[in-house]
Amino acid sequence: MTVPVPPLATLAGDTVLPARVDVVVIGGGIAGVAAAYFLAKKGRSVALVEKGHVAGEQSSRNWGWCRTQNRDRRELPLQLLSMGIWDTLAKEISIDTGFRRSGLIYATKSENDLATWSAWLDMAREFQVHHRLLTPAETKALTPGNEQEWIGGIHCPTDGRAEPTMAAPALAEAARALGATILQNCAVRGLDIVGGRAAGVITERGRIAADAVLCAGGAWSSLFCRRHGIDLPQAGIRSTVFATTPGPEVTPGGLVTPDFTLSRRLDGSYIVAAQDRGRLEVTPQGMRYARQFWPTFKSRRKSLKIGVGRSFLGGPEAIAGKWSMDRPTPFEKHRVFAPPPDTSIAAPALAKVKAAYPGLAGLGIGGMWAGWIDMMPDGIPVISPVETLPGFFLATGFSGHGFGIGPGAGRLAADLITGDSASVDPTAFRYSRLVDGTDLAAAGMM
Ligand SMILES: Cc1cc2nc3c(=O)[nH]c(=O)nc-3n(C[C@H](O)[C@H](O)[C@H](O)COP(=O)(O)OP(=O)(O)OC[C@H]3O[C@@H](n4cnc5c(N)ncnc54)[C@H](O)[C@@H]3O)c2cc1C
Repeated sequence: MTVPVPPLATLAGDTVLPARVDVVVIGGGIAGVAAAYFLAKKGRSVALVEKGHVAGEQSSRNWGWCRTQNRDRRELPLQLLSMGIWDTLAKEISIDTGFRRSGLIYATKSENDLATWSAWLDMAREFQVHHRLLTPAETKALTPGNEQEWIGGIHCPTDGRAEPTMAAPALAEAARALGATILQNCAVRGLDIVGGRAAGVITERGRIAADAVLCAGGAWSSLFCRRHGIDLPQAGIRSTVFATTPGPEVTPGGLVTPDFTLSRRLDGSYIVAAQDRGRLEVTPQGMRYARQFWPTFKSRRKSLKIGVGRSFLGGPEAIAGKWSMDRPTPFEKHRVFAPPPDTSIAAPALAKVKAAYPGLAGLGIGGMWAGWIDMMPDGIPVISPVETLPGFFLATGFSGHGFGIGPGAGRLAADLITGDSASVDPTAFRYSRLVDGTDLAAAGMM
């Protein structure tokens, strides 16, 4: 069974365009709604403008993991901030986000994995994380019902999951309760630039004036920026998952094994991903930034399928010249970008799950979808002002792990926009690293 979008919590939203606000947020994914929420909490007037519906793209299509485990060092402070926000958010906004500190486990048969996790743990200890390397017996005990033999694992009992279908709609609702305007089915065609600064946006329904504009457009951010001469190297990876029918609990949170990843949902079903079988599609935008992304894709070549698909001709990375602001743009042509799932992964992955877990023999496939992941050359997001265009900010490029870090990213973006002291050091996330190339060169990526 194939469903194009996981069923989402409904959100009424607004219909009337405000003439002027303090901040316009482009994009109703987790980063955009979190930024809108924190801006509204700071007393700013906000309009969030979403071309389709809130959480229609990556933010509802993911596994829901909120993890410190195996995080890039540069992201750990922001992830720890996010975990604290997740802890109190549902109570604060009186809407469940599905967040539970249900624990995440990685189990392995590979010495290389153990060495990688051990090195990561040595690095992460300064952040007082709660991870533990596991012996084979401990790994077995933490994967009850699994018939495989492990040589070890790593466990973090304080990592967990939120529900992707609930979290971003909940934050949008909460932002709205604080006075933010949430406009859905309304594409932003471009920036309104006055006197060399971003002075608002031009939407398909008219203009909204603003002191600041935040682009949290996920996979569309690069295209949006390019229209205004701002270079933002992004490359997409299509990632497929499927949901099972409800079944017995074998893990309360998430489990990574060499063959598959299991994520336990609140309704008792699982999201299953075949290990590392993302698809890198050759696109015009991908070719434009091939040099920056080559080292990353080379190192992941065994886990990526490469091919040409529909994304070459339509979608966030297709050719789109300069469009005019008074005609429909690529954003309106793809209200919700729903890349087709790679259906070939489902049956083999489900068979592996059942072979490993005889207790899950009764699972069926309940739904299947894909999401378009927005990679950055150095694998971490941009949360930053764009110095060359005053008033314009970015929170984008979450590189496949932006859901769990989303609440903190939104708070940091709100801090930067209002000029308040930043909740965490924003240096690693600055836009200018992509332009001056210093960090990328140091990391061997240019
Ligand atoms: C299969 C899969 C599994 C994943 N698993 C995890 C996980 O377990 N944990 C984790 O942390 N991350 C995970 N991720 C990554 C995570 O989903 C993303 O990093 C995160 O959701 C990105 O959020 P975002 O707000 O930046 O973008 P999005 O959720 O993509 O939102 C961007 C929004 O901007 C809108 N938009 C774009 N341009 C315009 C415009 N011009 N006008 C109006 N609106 C516009 C789009 O319609 C879209 O709704 C996974 C991703 C996938 C695909």
